[in-house]
Amino acid sequence: MKDEKKTKKIQKNKLPKAKKQFYYDLLMKARNEFMTQVKFHADEALTSQKDSAGERAGMATHMADLGSDNSRHDLELGLMSSEVDVVEMIEEALQRIHDDEYGICLDCGDLIAEARLAAKPYARYCTRCKEKRESMEDPGRRSR
Ligand SMILES: [Zn+2]
Repeated sequence: MKDEKKTKKIQKNKLPKAKKQFYYDLLMKARNEFMTQVKFHADEALTSQKDSAGERAGMATHMADLGSDNSRHDLELGLMSSEVDVVEMIEEALQRIHDDEYGICLDCGDLIAEARLAAKPYARYCTRCKEKRESMEDPGRRSR
């Protein structure tokens, strides 16, 4: 029953063609930017790995230093993986434009606010559902 209602909402909330084009362009631009970032951090991670391997060979006995040698590498990898996540979300959003489901909250089927999409065109949930999810992921956050 609930799903049927959601499907109807999705039908109703279809984007007009001009808006679709607008968000498509926005997503493609964001995709290019994030791909550039991913490539940059991938290169950085490779370089820092090479650097620290070189340093490590020179002072192999200083085990305590290994952690700090690796930290830049880990940082680059960490940045890269969150950017890869965004690129994946952008790919999904592009698919949703194709499927006529873009701009619609994946949870409730309501429209995602345009201001939110303008800032984050790959957003998957409306503000309300996102907050709900975040409070479920981290129950302590709300009471703080
Ligand atoms: Zn929602």
